[in-house]
Amino acid sequence: MRIAFIGLGHMGGPMARNLVKAGHRLRVFDLSAEAVQGLVAAGDAHSGDTQQVQAAASPADAARDAECVITMLPAARHVEVVLCGPDGDPARGVLASVPRGVPLIDCSTIDPATVQRLARLAAAQGNPLADAPVSGGTGGATAGTLTFMVGATPELFAQLQPVLQGMGQHIVHCGATGMGQVAKICNNLLLAVSMVGVAEAMSLGASLGIDPQVLAGILNTSSGRCWSADTYNPYPGVMPNVPAARGYSGGFGVDLMLKDLGLANEAARQVHQPLPLGAQALQLYEMWSRQGHGQLDFSSIIRMLQGQRPA
Ligand code: NAD
Repeated sequence: MRIAFIGLGHMGGPMARNLVKAGHRLRVFDLSAEAVQGLVAAGDAHSGDTQQVQAAASPADAARDAECVITMLPAARHVEVVLCGPDGDPARGVLASVPRGVPLIDCSTIDPATVQRLARLAAAQGNPLADAPVSGGTGGATAGTLTFMVGATPELFAQLQPVLQGMGQHIVHCGATGMGQVAKICNNLLLAVSMVGVAEAMSLGASLGIDPQVLAGILNTSSGRCWSADTYNPYPGVMPNVPAARGYSGGFGVDLMLKDLGLANEAARQVHQPLPLGAQALQLYEMWSRQGHGQLDFSSIIRMLQGQRPA
């Protein structure tokens, strides 16, 4: 399939490489020329065909003969610019050139309302748009094991499955357009809150003198059990191969979590849904980021509760 891929960063780069490995032909665009050249070289190395991955001059150029368009961009404003063109220059946007009927897949994490608005614009000119945000991080993007949470009609979901399977392991239909983003922000809201809860419980236990290993064992076989406790425990020394075991490097950064918490809190405001713990979690991660720890894994929030600097 001929795929336009726009946004070749930490996630988009390895995702696009997996599409190359699956044999697709790509036209790619990114503001970073280095990222584009890396992908072109990956195509050449994979097939010996210098044309398997071609560099495009703009999003419109990437999409002009595509059979599917994928975007993986930082935030809503970037998706809007890529699809609709920069202010005063709509001709550079995907919608200016993409052939009628070709599906668009936005894999970025953005707010559901923007997805739904962009989907209406795309539909007005005959292009269906699906939101397909991911979980699994850069490790999942590289290994091709991402989970895709897809918002689309059932027909569009069926049509997109083969492409998404080239980049992920679990492809889940969440409902109509925008519902992929809803699933994603609700999950990350809960993750942020549960991590703070586990960090509080582990810190309290350690301050009161219990061995953290023993406490973690109890939590993980009792009603406090959750992913933040049994798979990603924030207390150093309790588990191997988690960010807490390596000074909170790698993993899912505090600033990325803050972005998702911001989306959840803003979406909640729009529907008058109270999020007392979500708002509190956002403030805690904001304080931690402000203290200079935005790049650390989000489980490092335990260090703020303990009043310690990361090791
Ligand atoms: P990133 O910043 O590494 O990559 C974004 C890329 O988009 C960059 O290469 C940038 O140059 C490019 N870009 C920005 N504006 C552009 C434009 N107008 N035209 C073309 N290219 C443009 O971000 P990332 O970590 O790859 O994340 C991408 C999305 O995935 C975000 O929405 C993020 O929330 C989400 N996400 C990230 C992770 C993660 O662990 N990094 C996990 C799940 C979801």
